[in-house]
Amino acid sequence: MTRFVYQCTDCGRRYPRDAVRYLCPLCSRDYRPGMPLLGVLSAQFDYEAIRAKFGKDKPDWNVFSAVEKKWFPPMPVGNTPFFRSVALGEELGFSDVWIKNDGLNPSGSLKDRASFLVVAEANRLQEEVIVAASTGNAASALAAVCASAGKRAVIFVPHNAPRAKLAQMILYGATVVPLQGTYDDAFRLSLEYSAKRGGLNRNTAYHPLTIEGKKTVGLEIWQQNRWRVPDVILVPTGDGVILAGVHKAFYDLKAAGLISRLPRLVCVQAESSDAIHRYVESGVYEDAARPDTVADSISVSIPANAHWARRVIVESGGFSLTVSDREILDGQRVLAARTGVFAEPSCAAGVAALRKLRGSNRLDRGAQIVLLVTGHGLKDVEAAMRSLRLPASVAPTLAGCESALKAQRKKGRR
Ligand SMILES: *Cc1c(COP(=O)(O)O)cnc(C)c1O
Ligand SMILES: [Zn+2]
Repeated sequence: MTRFVYQCTDCGRRYPRDAVRYLCPLCSRDYRPGMPLLGVLSAQFDYEAIRAKFGKDKPDWNVFSAVEKKWFPPMPVGNTPFFRSVALGEELGFSDVWIKNDGLNPSGSLKDRASFLVVAEANRLQEEVIVAASTGNAASALAAVCASAGKRAVIFVPHNAPRAKLAQMILYGATVVPLQGTYDDAFRLSLEYSAKRGGLNRNTAYHPLTIEGKKTVGLEIWQQNRWRVPDVILVPTGDGVILAGVHKAFYDLKAAGLISRLPRLVCVQAESSDAIHRYVESGVYEDAARPDTVADSISVSIPANAHWARRVIVESGGFSLTVSDREILDGQRVLAARTGVFAEPSCAAGVAALRKLRGSNRLDRGAQIVLLVTGHGLKDVEAAMRSLRLPASVAPTLAGCESALKAQRKKGRR
């Protein structure tokens, strides 16, 4: 842990760590529910101290952490696999494609990283209740980490979230309020509830340590890539907090003099949930009118972190694009069949995006490209079933099996 202050990403004002909790007090005066957050805070470290303390031979990652190690919950998070897939690269038309499989976190998504750090902060502040809005993964992650730390999670979530995610949060012992509404409703209600009843609010981007938590995935990529910065990282994007977190990792490393350039960040959104994409393209912010996508984790009308996300995409020399549900489900099948990684639909958006970019001049064929797999496919089996058909069952005799196999071969040829 190195000393840090919070800096407003809108006005640049700086605040001591314990002078603020969520947003910049000045900028957030103009914030009303129903718009992207104003005054999101970024932790700015003593980068000279990091440079002096950090060594690659025996890396101490705590120097990049905004919460002291002694407050960490007893649940290991992160250190997920990072590997190259030649077969997927060949399929997609790029020669150096890598996967960071964050679906292998304890609750099955990258959200464990943010929840871990916010619960550590709750330990430090002696807050026993943590409140959050979620499309599903942030809540299951928070519930899991709270279970390990003996805290109470209060969760607002759309009632139609994938069932496995709902099952997770309830099994982990969270208090769950399923809403007959959208994720955007959940976001608003969670803020209203914690303002009235107290507790620490973990809403994404609203609590600045959600970004610091998600940053650890970028630090790991750098280390696992043998201290090299990849050329491109594809990020499935809803609220734009993973994007900001990945950027923050490389921003911190650069500020500490450990690297000299940033990876290009490519923002991938679903066609119906494209507010950040359109913001990047036009420079003008507008809500997504009616988010309705199979990729529930990136389904949002009003991305909480739209302003910061747009800036990091542009600053990194990256860009954004959208993909359809059909392309997402195709991407899910390609990823599974070429790599053995069963990812939830949002992550398949990255595969779909690469497919679309083949032959365009936006990405070099030979660039080192990292696909961020953010969530496990078993979290939403229903979604995967939409794009596949189970073979008909047959009588348990060899003749029955042989005729079934023959029928399947015929179908395969067609
Ligand atoms: C939350 C989430 C995302 C999107 O992250 P944002 O920070 O909202 O942009 C993508 N994929 C999965 C699996 C997620 O849980
Ligand atoms: Zn401000």
